[in-house]
Amino acid sequence: MADCVGGLRWKVPAKLGAMIVPRSIKHCRVCGSAVAYVIPEGDNRERAVCPACGEIHYENPINVVGTVPVWGEQVLLCRRAIEPRKGLWTLPAGFLELGESSSDGALRETDEEAGAHVELEGLFTVLNVVRAGQLHLFYRARMLDTHLAPGPETIEAQLFAEHQIPWGEIAFRTVRQTLEHFFADRSRGHFEIHAGDIA
Ligand SMILES: [Zn+2]
Repeated sequence: MADCVGGLRWKVPAKLGAMIVPRSIKHCRVCGSAVAYVIPEGDNRERAVCPACGEIHYENPINVVGTVPVWGEQVLLCRRAIEPRKGLWTLPAGFLELGESSSDGALRETDEEAGAHVELEGLFTVLNVVRAGQLHLFYRARMLDTHLAPGPETIEAQLFAEHQIPWGEIAFRTVRQTLEHFFADRSRGHFEIHAGDIA
């Protein structure tokens, strides 16, 4: 895999690179043999390589997509019915599926977790969670009505004004940061895209 993405050169420090290799693959997806984590010729990091058929299994960050659903002065949050962070509040978000765009995935997750009808208003946060191997993307979204139908992953979905946000019970740091950016931008009267890293 290239070290140069979108014209930006980056390098994972050797120590961190070694630490975040998940070693989660045990068996070859092609032939079922046990894999070994080795650095393939011409590569610069360990991969799960099959000693029997030579298949190299690449593992890359996972995309998490979600929305900030807005109804007037209020923002929609969902209380999680599943681990991790069961019982805590989150914005509707989940793993992007193959075959869908990031915006399609954000809309699907908003429907699945809250049953909310929304219209996307633009990309809002791009947050790297390098240690977890994830990239989180949140879109601002305008709710079209207040009809809600939480799915099985959600205990309840509720609208909150800024002063009602349960800051002490927010499930994920990317959600907290997205909410902080949202209220800061709204009070400025100007929304922009925020990119950042969660340490
Ligand atoms: Zn194999």
